[in-house]
Amino acid sequence: MSVDNNPYRQSNYLLSAHTLEQFAEDIGREVAFVGRSNVGKSSVINTITDQKRLAKTSKSPGRTRQINFFTVTSDVRLVDLPGYGFARVDQSLKKQWERVISGYFSNRSSLAGLVLIVDIRRKITLEDENMLQWCDSANVPVHIIINKADKLPFQKKQKAYNEFQRYFKGRVVSMQLFSVLDKIGVGEAVDVLNGWLNL
Ligand code: GDP
Repeated sequence: MSVDNNPYRQSNYLLSAHTLEQFAEDIGREVAFVGRSNVGKSSVINTITDQKRLAKTSKSPGRTRQINFFTVTSDVRLVDLPGYGFARVDQSLKKQWERVISGYFSNRSSLAGLVLIVDIRRKITLEDENMLQWCDSANVPVHIIINKADKLPFQKKQKAYNEFQRYFKGRVVSMQLFSVLDKIGVGEAVDVLNGWLNL
């Protein structure tokens, strides 16, 4: 990808949904982003779209519970799913979150692919696993973004990458290193999105 040819720069905020009824109309194609709270999901979306505040980066992890929809073109969207894995969330909120997420995955024909963001220094969580399983049941391809790659020196980075590769082998279509800080991996991510979204 040439840096000048990034269609996600033109993304605009569309709406935020707390319930299934509030979702954007299920037409065209969309790609969803998900990951544990504080993994850098908002920062990754902002980096890919080359916008400072399209997705909100938050100082208090887990506060944003809604699904945020962004339009790229009239029938292409990016979707920011709520982060998971934060400690202080009461059970009823958690249940509501599960309802919305499972509703989203089980009945979203425009969903062309899921980007699961993980932290290069951390292990895969049960919630990450659940995401993979939802995608598997819904036949949605998964791309892994291994974020915060700047946090590790070269050899440890390679080692971590190899471990993720072994872990995800056969279960995801592709994976890559990414760093918001060093702007590593933007072109690769854009190529994956373009493929799924026919852009
Ligand atoms: P979210 O909760 O997943 O949306 O995470 P945020 O985008 O709010 O980021 C959480 C924290 O991680 C913030 O302090 C970011 O500046 C930081 N962060 C995100 N991506 C990176 C990265 O690639 N490298 C480093 N060093 N920090 C990052």
